Amino acid sequence: MDLTPDISVVVPLYNEAESLPELTAWIERVMQANGFTYEILFINDGSTDDSWQVIRRLQEGNPNVRGVAFSRNYGKSPALNTGFARTRGRVVITMDADLQDSPDEIPELYRMITEEGYDLVSGWKKKRYDPLSKTIPTKLFNATARKVSGIHNLHDFNCGLKAYKSEVVKHIEVYGDMHRYIPYLAKNAGYTKIGEKVVHHQARKYGKTKFGLDRFVNGYLDLGTLWFQSKFGIKPMHLFGLLGSGMFALGMLAVMVILILKIVSMCSDSYHFYVTNSIYFYLALTAMVLGTQFFMAGFIGELITRNSAERNSYQISEEI
Ligand code: UDP
Ligand code: MG
Repeated sequence: MDLTPDISVVVPLYNEAESLPELTAWIERVMQANGFTYEILFINDGSTDDSWQVIRRLQEGNPNVRGVAFSRNYGKSPALNTGFARTRGRVVITMDADLQDSPDEIPELYRMITEEGYDLVSGWKKKRYDPLSKTIPTKLFNATARKVSGIHNLHDFNCGLKAYKSEVVKHIEVYGDMHRYIPYLAKNAGYTKIGEKVVHHQARKYGKTKFGLDRFVNGYLDLGTLWFQSKFGIKPMHLFGLLGSGMFALGMLAVMVILILKIVSMCSDSYHFYVTNSIYFYLALTAMVLGTQFFMAGFIGELITRNSAERNSYQISEEI
């Protein structure tokens, strides 16, 4: 007997007790109507309300419900990562617990993965029911993410509703706040068939949002980190060496200018050149110091990557 369910639904949650029964019933309805075998994996991210008791009760009523409880609040990314490690389904679907994402999207997402061959399909909340303070910065954020990641066809990187081929979630590591960039993580892991589906979005029915405006600052910082890792993660010297060499070249140029001016001034009676009064002196000084710093950062980066336990593990897709 094949015990692999068709679909694993992963739901990270933090204080969402009121929404859970409704969400579970809705997912059940959709699964039954479409004849899918499934499991629902609730990851309780250290909720302080009675979310966990609710999950226990839901499991008694439905053996397809599974749950993991963190002992404290770690964040959405650690919750997703923990869920991903435990999925058994052929297709994995993530959705938020707050009923903003609709389980009615599941059948079409499943079809896009299994029939159209996508590795990952991300939801696009084309019509959003969130405050303007969130939707406008989000547009900017997505435009930057598209540019930096090179995934030009996505409008909504951070949509909680996404579908994956099972192997994708087993090969990416979602840490920190990197859930905003899962498509980028997947792309860096070699899963490039990434699609998008317009999905219905609803206003939050119960509780309140768990993310403040600092999401945008942190979001941009994380994007920088990911960009750096994907470009120079295993060869940091290629970046720092280039910057260091550039700085040194600039410094040398300034030194040459100083030398020439000094010689000219020594041969002339009317022109006096004082090295320490010259802007080129400060330029040379700063450029040389910065150049050395860049090289040091590069060497240290190289030492760190050479010592990482993962340094020779490459993702192999096939071998014959
Ligand atoms: N969430 C979580 N841990 C956290 C913060 C949020 O598991 O530390 C869950 C939250 O319960 C919800 C999902 O992540 O299921 C999305 O959060 P939220 O709805 O607050 O985000 P928004 O829709 O406002 O972007
Ligand atoms: Mg929400």
